[in-house]
Amino acid sequence: MNDPKTLWNKILETISTQVSSTTISTWFSRANLNKLNNGVAVIGCADPFVREWIESKHRILLTETISQLVGNHIAVTFVIDENLSSKEAIEKTPLFSTGKDENSLIKVLGNSNINIRYSFESFIVGPSNRLAHAAAEAVAARPGATYNPLFIYGGVGLGKTHLMHAIGNRMLNDNPNRKIYYCASETFLNSMVEAIRSGKTTEFRQKYRKLDLLIIDDIQFISNWQETQSELFHTFNELYLANKQIVFASDRPPSQISNLMDRLRSRFEGGMVADISEPTYEMRIAILKKKCEQNLIHLPEECINSIASSVESNIRELEGALNRIYNQKTVTGIIPTPAEIENILKRDIEQKQRQISPKKVIKAVAKEFNVTVKELKGSSRRAQIAKPRQVAMFIIREDLKHKLEDIAGFLGKTDHTTVLNAVKRVSSLILKDDTVREKIERLRQRIRQNTL
Ligand code: ADP
Ligand code: MG
Repeated sequence: MNDPKTLWNKILETISTQVSSTTISTWFSRANLNKLNNGVAVIGCADPFVREWIESKHRILLTETISQLVGNHIAVTFVIDENLSSKEAIEKTPLFSTGKDENSLIKVLGNSNINIRYSFESFIVGPSNRLAHAAAEAVAARPGATYNPLFIYGGVGLGKTHLMHAIGNRMLNDNPNRKIYYCASETFLNSMVEAIRSGKTTEFRQKYRKLDLLIIDDIQFISNWQETQSELFHTFNELYLANKQIVFASDRPPSQISNLMDRLRSRFEGGMVADISEPTYEMRIAILKKKCEQNLIHLPEECINSIASSVESNIRELEGALNRIYNQKTVTGIIPTPAEIENILKRDIEQKQRQISPKKVIKAVAKEFNVTVKELKGSSRRAQIAKPRQVAMFIIREDLKHKLEDIAGFLGKTDHTTVLNAVKRVSSLILKDDTVREKIERLRQRIRQNTL
């Protein structure tokens, strides 16, 4: 029983009652029990992909199974075992034969850029993402037939990318032969521009047309080069007419992507446009609990609650905060109190804000409003330039908390009342005009999170 190999076979036998035989032959046959020492079981995996899969999906099952078999609590860790090249593993495990299909599933997942961690199972649904989630489920169930395209938009770190990967995961789970491709808009645009330059747009379109699902993330970065847009339009049509599913994500709705061609905009709007907004307190708690469960993190309820109340607007930051607090606990061995947690997280946020320079804000505003930094610092009173200038003053004042005189200086002005007026004007504009508010909020968020 203490021999790792015998124990591993016992483990496989036990878990085979709980997972499918394909899972065993595809994944577990490419892993082994390396050693079991001092309450820690080291699972060797043939490659990072196997490791990722087993660790993210079956860690708890393995922990429980091994603990039960051994008779006390065992922690599980994972390593890449180079002796376990995929071929050897398959040959060494006659019990679980691995056919061609499973190998190709691994390949398919690898080529698709789909991240198995981002599944529907690990996605918490609540009021802020219910529509987007339902649309994503519908698309995964009947790709190309329900909502095409699906256009998901929302602020940074709210789960757009996660949801899109979940569609890919579900579709591949249902049928591993499906052709799926996830890419950032930059990657897609680069290869498209390359195709345009080399006169190979037909081949380009044909290549994409073979896909069952094309996911393009952060499509707001679509260049304002007309030719790029019209090529995207044609590629879109090829896929669309062949009933292939297309999913886009963006930080803003199609109506607010600047310099977007009308015909492309109407394509983006032609299926389902679903937004994701900021999570409620209850969702933040549920997300934290889920992440704890996935990563085997133990924190008392009150800690979870105070993390959830300290980080409100971004799930990526919520996860960061959880790790931060958990590390603190691991290092000091003491569970921080709710007040301490709030303090630690508040200090982190302040420190981050201090790192943002006015120069960066001015640059970001210029980019967002399509003007130059020189114009912002200049003296033109044209609304097109004066308005973004006021926005820059407003953000530097509100978020970076600089002195009025200094802000005037940053923007080439001498009088601090100019700044005061700008702050007032933008504040009242934000109250009156939803579009302006959304635009400025998006900008502030991106500046805060340094995702410029
Ligand atoms: P976006 O693409 O909108 O910027 P991501 O999809 O990258 O955001 O999400 C950021 C992080 O937050 C990821 O680790 C993701 O798993 C997590 N996350 C976002 N929404 C949820 C949710 N509803 N449930 C669980 N985790 C979530
Ligand atoms: Mg994203």
